[in-house]
Amino acid sequence: MTITEFHDALKNKKTSVRETVSVYLDKIKTENKKLNAYLEVFEKEAVAQAEEIDIRIQSGETPSGLMGVPIAVKDNILIRGHIVSAASKILGNYVASYDAFVIERLKKAGAIFLGRTNMDEFAMGSSTENSAYGPTKNPHDSGRVPGGSSGGSAAAVGGGIAMASLGSDTGGSIRQPAAFCGVVGLKPTYGAVSRSGLMAMASSLDQIGPITQTVADAEAIFNVIRGKDEMDATSVELGGPTAKRRTDRQVQKIGVPREYFTDGLDQRIKKAIDGTIEKLGKNYEIVELSLPHTKYALACYYIIVPAEVSSNMARYDGIRYGVRKEGINLLEVYKKSRGEGIGLEVRRRILLGTYVLSHGYYDAYYTKAQKVRVQIKKDFKEAFKEVDVILAPTTPTLPFKIGEKAKDPLSMYLSDIYTIPVNLAGIPAISLPIGWAEEEDSVKLPIGMQIIAPHFEENKLFELGKIIESWKQ
Ligand code: GLN
Repeated sequence: MTITEFHDALKNKKTSVRETVSVYLDKIKTENKKLNAYLEVFEKEAVAQAEEIDIRIQSGETPSGLMGVPIAVKDNILIRGHIVSAASKILGNYVASYDAFVIERLKKAGAIFLGRTNMDEFAMGSSTENSAYGPTKNPHDSGRVPGGSSGGSAAAVGGGIAMASLGSDTGGSIRQPAAFCGVVGLKPTYGAVSRSGLMAMASSLDQIGPITQTVADAEAIFNVIRGKDEMDATSVELGGPTAKRRTDRQVQKIGVPREYFTDGLDQRIKKAIDGTIEKLGKNYEIVELSLPHTKYALACYYIIVPAEVSSNMARYDGIRYGVRKEGINLLEVYKKSRGEGIGLEVRRRILLGTYVLSHGYYDAYYTKAQKVRVQIKKDFKEAFKEVDVILAPTTPTLPFKIGEKAKDPLSMYLSDIYTIPVNLAGIPAISLPIGWAEEEDSVKLPIGMQIIAPHFEENKLFELGKIIESWKQ
């Protein structure tokens, strides 16, 4: 059931929160062994929360907001009293001492937390293979990856073992796994959702967002978690068009950027998007456009991200958080704790980041990358003078096989080529499923497409997303 369907069923007394939550918990027991989507299930707590909400409903309260909605949470978002490990060994025993802002909001709205989901360690990766706790499997083919880094959250929704989930997106980690698992994923505008209580990966890019079965469900969660938080100076109250919901149609002109339809794109994905564009052409003006700096986005991202990562990871030293290995002096404690606790991809980024920030190379790499970032942002700004939203593929390929890219970091990095520019520009985008492709072995794999909008205009994503989604019925 979607959130909308669930609330209708609750209102008509066709189900109770307790019954629905139990269905999920039972299914998790059988399915999670195959998927490895959850690292931990909060069974007792979820049942207790469900019973409490049923009592509220019985005493006359109408189900609203996210009352009773069973949600899975990525393991880098803090829930007070629960382990939160970012799928890293170094935080294997770390218990959150406060609730993330989004968790506070969800609790107030009556959501129920089913458990914490698997991910690439500290959100670095595109396949969930970088987890210290084993890879998550794609719900549509267990030999393939679910994408990453929010692979557990996407696989849980795609595999029917969570009604919805939370992920985080620094370079595509909500949208890419959503596309690979056949579900909807929203990366909000940078600043729309507070990052307080989200473990920092690259602070100038990170955003929390929902992964859901439908666009309407993503909108419902977004409306609960967005807004200004005193604990995150970059968060803002949306005063713009999203808050003042207009009733008239806001999307008239749709842009299609040339640079997103080049050689590396799987032809089956291209065909599905072409079909979508053709259909939209009947009611919208379609404009081909150029985002000329797209080709520099990946290189720019892999300088800025490691730089911020190397700084953010410094706090995991074996002293302040998590697992500590003893040594004869402080340096040895650091070395042993980090050496045993931190995985290879995270280490690679700490090394790269330390290098690009070093005295002799700072201007050549970091300063240059920041300038390129401004150009990428300008590309979108120019494009949005002409069009209301932009359509693009979410990923260049279909879900790949487990192990296929694990030993080749560059090919892994390339799987985010279409999602990264959006993060660099700070704008919002939604990925939604638009079809299926058949593989040689006759498995059917989902195809995702993203809609991109100007800063704080998520409403345009919801408007167009719902229209495309309605074609399925
Ligand atoms: N796969 C990208 C990376 O490894 C994006 C990760 C993310 O969005 N958290 O950096």
